[in-house]
This record gives sequence, C-alpha cells and structure tokens, in this order.
Amino acid sequence: METNLLNSLWRESSEYLVTSRRALDTNLQCDVAIIGGGYSGLWTAYYLKQFAPDCRIAVLESNQIGFGASGRNGGWCSGFLPVSLGELEASHGRQAAIEMYSESFRTLDEIESVITNQKIDCDYHRGGTITGATNLVQKSRIDAEVSEMRRFGFDENDYRIITSNEVKSRIKISGLALGSYTPHCAVVNPAKLVHALANLVERVGVEIYENTNVIEYSPGRVKTDRSVCIADLVIRATEGFTPRLKRHRRNLAPLYSYMVATEPLSTRQLSDLGWQNRETYHDARNMIIYSQITKDNRIAFGGRGAPYHFASRVKPQYDTHAVIHDKIIRSMHNVFPVSREVAVTHRWGGPLGVPRNWRPSVNFDKKSGLGSLGGYVGDGVAAANLAARTLAHLIKGDNHPLTGLPWVNHPSRKWEFEPLRYIGINGLLKISESMDKYEAQHNKPDKVRSFILNKFLG
Ligand SMILES: Cc1cc2nc3c(=O)[nH]c(=O)nc-3n(C[C@H](O)[C@H](O)[C@H](O)COP(=O)(O)OP(=O)(O)OC[C@H]3O[C@@H](n4cnc5c(N)ncnc54)[C@H](O)[C@@H]3O)c2cc1C
Repeated sequence: METNLLNSLWRESSEYLVTSRRALDTNLQCDVAIIGGGYSGLWTAYYLKQFAPDCRIAVLESNQIGFGASGRNGGWCSGFLPVSLGELEASHGRQAAIEMYSESFRTLDEIESVITNQKIDCDYHRGGTITGATNLVQKSRIDAEVSEMRRFGFDENDYRIITSNEVKSRIKISGLALGSYTPHCAVVNPAKLVHALANLVERVGVEIYENTNVIEYSPGRVKTDRSVCIADLVIRATEGFTPRLKRHRRNLAPLYSYMVATEPLSTRQLSDLGWQNRETYHDARNMIIYSQITKDNRIAFGGRGAPYHFASRVKPQYDTHAVIHDKIIRSMHNVFPVSREVAVTHRWGGPLGVPRNWRPSVNFDKKSGLGSLGGYVGDGVAAANLAARTLAHLIKGDNHPLTGLPWVNHPSRKWEFEPLRYIGINGLLKISESMDKYEAQHNKPDKVRSFILNKFLG
C-alpha cells in the first residue's frame, strides 16, 4: 500500500467490498486500455461495455481500485461544476452553457438509476446542498449566483435563497446571514461507490489489473512497469496523479484536499444539530470547506488550502497534514459547535486534478485512438459519470447530444514551468485565505486581492 488510507473513514467502512486483483505482468492485447481505476476510468468501462458488450477492456491501476480521490473524497455527488454558467457562455455561447448545466443536473438521475438497478450499497441519499453566508460578502456572492442561475433560465426548483431561519430549521448553524438551497446534490460513501463500480464492471467482463503502474503511453501502446499493453484505444483517467506520466507533467496540477470525520453523534447531539435530511453543507468563503453527515451520524468535514508541492509531486506522506487538519477541525468546531463534544476519529486527504484554466474536459481523437477525461478541480464525483458517458458516445461516434457539450475537446493550456507554478499556486492559496479573513473582519469585499486572483485565474 502506498498510503495510510486506513485513516480514511470511507475505506474502513467499505472493506467488505474490496477485492484484491492481480497485476498485469505479461503483455496483453485488448480493444481499450484505460489508465486509472477511479470513477472516470470505471464509468468509462461501464458505458463502453453497454455499447459494445464484446469489447475487450483492461483497466490498469497503479495501486488499488479507489486509491485516488474516488476512494477518499467528501462524498458530494453534486450537479454543480467548477466552471460557471457565465464562463461557459463566454467561451461557447448561452445555449451550450445551459445544456452543460442541465446535463450535469440530470447526471444525478443517471447515477441514481445505476445505483438502484444494480443494487449498489453506497449510502446514497439526495438531500441537496445548503450554502450558508456568514458575512455580507458571502451573502452578495450567493445573491450573485442565484441571479446568474435565473439569467440562464434555472428557477427556484434548481437554486433558491433561503432565510437563516430555514437553514436553522434544517441544520442548526449559528451566525448565518442567509443561505441558498439546491436539490442537485446527493451524499455518498465514495469508497463504497468506487468499489461497487469495479465489481460491477468486472461482472460484465472488464479486466482490472491492480499494482500496474503505467509509465508512458502512445497511440496503440501502453508501457507499464512490467508489461506492454497493445490496445486500439488508450484512455487516460489519472486525474491528480497525471503529472507522474511522461509527457503529461504540466497537464494538471495536483492540489490537496483534506478531511476529518468524527465519531457518531449521540441522539441528543443529533437532535441539537438537526440535520435530518443529510443535505451537504458549506459556506460561501473563498477557501472551500465542505461537509456531510454520514449514514451512521458522523460529521465528515473537509477543506482545501493545503500547500501545492514543488514540481507537482504527489507522495504518500502528503496524504495527511497536521497543520491543515488542525485548521479543518477548528473550522468544523466553528461551523458545528456540537462537534466540539465528539472525538475526531479519522483524518485523511488526497490530490485532486486542476487544469490551468480550471475547467474539466473530455478529449478524444479518433485518428490516434487516444482519449482522456478529468480536471474536475474537486467536483468530480458526479462529473466523472457525465464525462465517461460523453467519452463513450465520442468513441461510439453516434453524434449523441452529449458529444456537443462545451467540455468536449476543450483542453487547457499547460501549467507554467517551475518555479513559476509553485509561486503562482501557493500565492493564490495564500491570497484566498487572506481574503476570507479580510471579508470576515471588515464585512466588505477585498478588492485588491480579488483583482489579483482574477488576473491569475484569467
Ligand atoms: C479529499 C478530497 C475530497 C473531495 N471531495 C469531493 C466531493 O465531495 N465531491 C466531488 O465531486 N469531488 C470531490 N473530490 C474530487 C473527486 O474525488 C475527484 O474529482 C474524482 O474522484 C476524480 O475521479 P478520477 O477517477 O478522475 O480520479 P482518481 O479517483 O484520482 O483516480 C485516478 C486513478 O488513476 C490511478 N493512476 C494514476 N496514475 C496512474 C498510472 N501512471 N498508472 C496506473 N494508474 C494510475 C490512481 O492510482 C488513481 O486510482 C475530492 C477530492 C479529494 C482528494
């Protein structure tokens, strides 16, 4: 094992679904080789098998299924994307932006139908998301998001303002100015989902090889540490680990996100907290925090803001971070005072994949047979399903409406060379954190830092 994943609550609770699989130590010939055994790789295998049941597909995973972010995330299965409607409109037009978001919202129905039809046990519950505003700047951010949704024709059923009293009637959070609610989010136990998906695709004939590290690939050929796989199509689904691959060092930057989980709340603590419908909760600060209440009544709470590591390094020792975990615990105590009464039982983290333009993409080149999907910037639980369906239709070549979505073949430019990348990303993280402090103290926007941030992201 390359990491202390046992610290992850999800891993511990999904042990009964974990299967050990053999490595690929002899050469192999197949129709499709998929690099990466997370949601992106497995959903791609799932949909390709639906279209072509006889197709021979091999998933090559350097560690174990769900080793990446898919086995360790916050379990928000959200229809929202890391790219806004306005940004999509600017690059692809209004209608394309609407279609992208509509498909993304519908993705929850698709995931739900697979979970139901295949009897997948992953603690799935669609309770929606509450976003809280704890100061006036956060309130104006929420107002702007609602206005943007309305401008594109999404109504109250998609996203609406709720009073602080309504928030409190769902979850008792102190100090809120107001909030918003969207039904387009579910909670899952992420590791149960990824292991169940692997078992599902294996049952329809997909071959999964674990402990099989891909060193490099080119059209028709994948070189692993011990073998060569010859395949008509090669799909890269390696997200935050992509920089480890030759010729892909600057495609995606790995940013770390960290989580903690508490012991289960008592009946009294639960009744103090409310939180009956398992909505996901965050607030509108810049440095993202995210939380859910698990099926067994633990608070699982995460946050971004960890330092980026020079040269996009991804190492097992980065999977925990004492300082950031302590910060996350302090945030959790502030947001949910009742959490002070319970012990933190689990701490873990992992890398997510960030493209230079902060926008996920699905890429396929028919001529070379190469494809890739990802760059979800920490919003990939639902998006990986939509990306995989999109990719499967691109491969099938059936001109399905999904193949016209704006993220198709819309890759980002590469990240800067070091040390610029290191200075830029870590500077950006510091700025975001300082902005939150300034906004909380002064109750007004931090115009200077906001300007710098937009320049960097632009
Ligand atoms: C702590 C944390 C919290 C998050 N919370 C949320 C959330 O609540 N909601 C949400 O939507 N998103 C969240 N995300 C992001 C989300 O988990 C990811 O976007 C999603 O899981 C990406 O899936 P993937 O299959 O593309 O990548 P991964 O799950 O990262 O899978 C990539 C796989 O490829 C394998 N691999 C990499 N390189 C090679 C190689 N060379 N050879 C063979 N195999 C290789 C890796 O071992 C890994 O298993 C979070 C991420 C983290 C880290």
